[in-house]
Amino acid sequence: MERTLAIIKPDAVARGKIGEIIRRFEKAGLRISALKMVHLDKRQAEEFYHVHRARPFFDSLTTFMASGPVAVLVLEGETAISTLRAIMGATDPARASPGTIRRDLGTSIEQNTVHGSDSPESAAFEVPYFFQGPETFDYVRVDRHKGGDGPSS
Ligand code: ATP
Ligand code: MG
Repeated sequence: MERTLAIIKPDAVARGKIGEIIRRFEKAGLRISALKMVHLDKRQAEEFYHVHRARPFFDSLTTFMASGPVAVLVLEGETAISTLRAIMGATDPARASPGTIRRDLGTSIEQNTVHGSDSPESAAFEVPYFFQGPETFDYVRVDRHKGGDGPSS
């Protein structure tokens, strides 16, 4: 089992898209292990996105990520990291494939609605950045409901 960190970014929270995005996570078969809202301050956003500190968009990105509350989740599945990246779509919503979260809901390359860990190494930093052990949960996901949003329906 693989774990990955997802963030529903301030643009999507402000536009009332938390439910729509979580529905897509669940529909992809990802199991929600942890879930909460936080409002990062600028320093925390800089710490979280430290790998991008030399990029020209770093100041703008971290100001945006601290501009309002975000929803953070730990998602689990056999290929959780690549599954989440696939349903997110490319960084720039205009270049993302039809049907992806960013294509359908993103408004700009910066305000692209979701973050997902891009490797096991990133997930190993990002999951504990937001969640302590007792805040994540193991349970068996059962997809019995026919006609619902489960992957088997
Ligand atoms: P994320 O890390 O948020 O999941 P990503 O891995 O697709 O996104 P990165 O290259 O890691 O993309 O960039 C991190 C974030 O920085 C992007 O999601 C986006 O919000 C912002 N960003 C990336 N490129 C640009 C750019 N050229 N201009 C403005 N913002 C950008
Ligand atoms: Mg990234």
